[in-house]
Amino acid sequence: MATVEIADLRKSFGAFPVVHGVSMDFKDGEFIILVGPSGCGKSTLLRMIAGLEDVTSGTISIDGRVVNTLSPKERNIAMVFQNYALYPQMTVAQNLGFSLELSKVPKAEIAAKVNESAEILGLTPLLDRKPSQLSGGQRQRVAMGRAIVRDPQVFLFDEPLSNLDANLRVKMRAEIKALHQRLGSTIVYVTHDQIEAMTMADRIVVLRSGNVEQIGTPMELFDYPKNMFVAGFLGSPA
Ligand code: ADP
Ligand code: MG
Repeated sequence: MATVEIADLRKSFGAFPVVHGVSMDFKDGEFIILVGPSGCGKSTLLRMIAGLEDVTSGTISIDGRVVNTLSPKERNIAMVFQNYALYPQMTVAQNLGFSLELSKVPKAEIAAKVNESAEILGLTPLLDRKPSQLSGGQRQRVAMGRAIVRDPQVFLFDEPLSNLDANLRVKMRAEIKALHQRLGSTIVYVTHDQIEAMTMADRIVVLRSGNVEQIGTPMELFDYPKNMFVAGFLGSPA
C-alpha cells in the first residue's frame, strides 16, 4: 500500500502542452478513478506515474519519496492496459511468471507467486492454456495476474474493460473491486464509463484538457458538480 502525491505535474510533447500543472494526493489503499474526454491527458498522466513517460516538470512522490528519476521497476507500480497484450505462445502460467523470470527470481518463488495470483483471480484451472483458448474476461484476469505477481504498491489501470462486452464489463467491475478489497492496494483507474466511475471509485478526478476540474467522492460530484462540464460527465444537470 502507498500514498501517491502529484505536485504541479506538467507534460509537453514538443511545444504542445498536454498536462498543465496537475496536483492531487491519493491516500493509502484508495481507489481513484480518472475521467475526462478523449485526449485530455489521462493516459499520459498514468504513464508518467508509472515511469513510462518523462515529466516535463513537477514531482511524483510515493510514500513521501520523489520517484521522478526512478525506472518503472524501481517504482514498484504495475500498470494494466486496455489491450492487455498477453504473450500468445506462452501458457497462462508462463504469462504470469514471465516478468519475475526476467527479474531472475528463483523458480520455486515464481511458482508460488504464480499459484497465489492464479488462486486470487480464479485462474488455477486455466494455468496450462494458451491465451487463444481463453475468453475475454479470462484474458483480462491474466493481465491483472501479471500485475499482481510483482506485489506492486500501486496499480494503474488504463481503461481495462473497454474491450469487453457490456455483461462482462459489469462482472469484471465487481471482480476488480473484490481484488482491491483483498489486496488493499492503492489503485488509479482510468475510464470514460460514468457508471464504472460512480460505482467503483472512492474518489473521482474529473480532467479537462490537461487540468483537474474537480476531485471528490462520487456522491459529492453527483450532488455538487462544480460546473456544467462536471455535471455533464457525472452529476445531475444543474
Ligand atoms: P487520453 O488518455 O485522455 O485520451 P492522452 O494522454 O492519450 O489522452 O493524450 C493527451 C494528448 O497528448 C492528446 O492530444 C494526444 O494526441 C497527445 N499525445 C499523447 N501521447 C503523445 C506522444 N507520444 N506524442 C505526441 N503527442 C502525444
Ligand atoms: Mg487514454
